[in-house]
Amino acid sequence: AKRNVGSNFTVYRPEIDQSSQQNLSLLSELRCAIQENQLRLYVQPKLSLGEKEVVGIEALMRWEHPTRGFLVPDQFIPFAEQTGIIRLLTRWILDKSAALCTELITHGIHLKISVNISTHDLLDQDLPVKFADILTRHRVKTSSFCLEITESAIMNDPHRAQVTLERLNAMGVELSIDDFGTGYSSLAYLKRLPVDELKIDKSFVMHMENDSDDRKIVKSTIDLGHNMGLRVVAEGVEDAAVMALLTKMGCDQAQGNYINRAIPSEQLIEWLGQKET
Ligand code: C2E
Ligand code: CA
Ligand code: CA
Ligand code: CA
Repeated sequence: AKRNVGSNFTVYRPEIDQSSQQNLSLLSELRCAIQENQLRLYVQPKLSLGEKEVVGIEALMRWEHPTRGFLVPDQFIPFAEQTGIIRLLTRWILDKSAALCTELITHGIHLKISVNISTHDLLDQDLPVKFADILTRHRVKTSSFCLEITESAIMNDPHRAQVTLERLNAMGVELSIDDFGTGYSSLAYLKRLPVDELKIDKSFVMHMENDSDDRKIVKSTIDLGHNMGLRVVAEGVEDAAVMALLTKMGCDQAQGNYINRAIPSEQLIEWLGQKET
């Protein structure tokens, strides 16, 4: 006799089929996106809070999809991470970022470029070698790069993450803990891992002017980072008041819409020029 389990399965199956169909199509579309040059490199400046100078940029991906429109990372990066195709996207953005780095240097501009690295990348034993190959091809130094890694990516497999991060660190790449404070991880890894930077998540920064708990979290994180000898960056700075608070608290760098939104990489040199005058 047919049991409940069986009939439940039949009820839900069509939906599962439909969504896996959609995913299959998204997967092939993503492969196509790389080949057909639909991905775009956007960059958002990072400002030093002491001198108020642009000291770096974060590389952020966009997808100009031929039918679905202009897509932001939340619309395809989580999916790319689930399926592992993120490795191809990471290679793409590392390559474009390295090319941008070369172009900036020919204009006499030296900025540190931060690139986001996902769990899958960290589990890829070949990541350091692939990364080194890309940098050699573009003749840029590893020290021009900072790789941003989330706590959850590290905690997924702390041992393997540590091996990869130590190899990257030995190459001279800087490492940053992204979305700091939002993960479910222990602070112990801060002691063990060769990180250079903590990036305070925007959820704590955005409303810190009016929320005293957020202010305490931000201040404590800045102090913790500094006590560990790390650079501390705040993301999600949306107004002058927050920027002033962060400066007073001794935060090293800030990133956010108040300074500038992410822009197409082709506009960066012009934007930097306008800033000076
Ligand atoms: P994230 O690494 O935390 O990057 C910061 C995000 O916050 C960016 O969103 C940025 O545009 C946004 N942001 C910056 N300043 C402000 C602000 O003042 N207010 C608000 N509300 N938002 C601000 P974006 O570009 O949509 O990227 C979202 C996430 O997608 C990133 O979060 C990152 O986790 C992921 N991502 C983006 N590009 C890549 C990539 O190339 N590879 C990987 N693995 N992940 C990426
Ligand atoms: Ca990031
Ligand atoms: Ca280091
Ligand atoms: Ca974040």
